[in-house]
Amino acid sequence: LKNINVALIGNPNVGKTSVFNQLTGLNQQVGNYPGITVEKKIGFCKLPTNIKANILDLPGTYSLNASSIDESVVIELLLNKKDRLYPDVALVVTDVENLKRNLLLFTQIKDLEIPTILVINMADRMKHKGISLDIPYLEEHLKTKIALISSRKGYGIEELKKLIVTYKSISSEPCLNASSIDPEYFDGLRATFPNQLLYKLWLVITQDVNFLNLERKEIKNSYTKSHSDLKRLQQKETIKRYQFINDVLKQGLQVDASIAKDFRSVLDRILTHKIWGYVIFFVI
Ligand code: GDP
Ligand code: MG
Repeated sequence: LKNINVALIGNPNVGKTSVFNQLTGLNQQVGNYPGITVEKKIGFCKLPTNIKANILDLPGTYSLNASSIDESVVIELLLNKKDRLYPDVALVVTDVENLKRNLLLFTQIKDLEIPTILVINMADRMKHKGISLDIPYLEEHLKTKIALISSRKGYGIEELKKLIVTYKSISSEPCLNASSIDPEYFDGLRATFPNQLLYKLWLVITQDVNFLNLERKEIKNSYTKSHSDLKRLQQKETIKRYQFINDVLKQGLQVDASIAKDFRSVLDRILTHKIWGYVIFFVI
């Protein structure tokens, strides 16, 4: 039986490599600056019920609108179903403290109709930040399954493994309708390429030509748009996605301001030295 492919995708610094190490038992270098994982790394994991998985650690990516070499590695893989490492399931790893920004990429991966699990990492930071999540609400509106974990402390890793095993029943439906970015433009696309996945076409058309193979260059050439039109559409895309994410998080994520503020005010006092008087007094 062939191993299933599990891809770790996410912004830089959300803990992808830490999750990779937890799943594979390997010890890849963890860094707190972006760009440390510049190539894909493969490890192996034996999941419950004897399912074997290739775990793929990918470079940090902010979005699928490629602007760096790191990002093009991820896009190349996700646009190529024939790649032997094409994911059976994607784990989009996010940092609970930066969920809004991290979810932009999540909504794009969903538009590629890949079964996707949302991994919310750094759960150990939630308590003193006063963050609480409505997981069933988020699962429903983001059309996904969520694993709330701390890869640093090892919380939730076994549950994540169990969830990966259910990959065949994990939704590959988009959570946001890509054609709402610009209905007229997308209708045109759909008419010209009736058998292609719309968001995939959109990525091909907006990508840098250097990243594209021959087949994709042909698509791009047969549907050119001016550079400024493409930039405008990309901006519209980002705005649409953030509107959707804001709406979902309004209900699904609560920050208890009093806890967060208390913590911040203590920190502020320490930083502005007001508290040092008490500390020195106490020590003496
Ligand atoms: P990557 O860039 O996505 O591969 O992220 P890394 O795995 O390199 O982790 C980035 C930073 O986040 C490192 O300093 C990790 O120690 C830290 N980190 C990873 N997971 C957790 C976690 O669950 N909790 C906390 N508090 N920090 C974490
Ligand atoms: Mg990494």
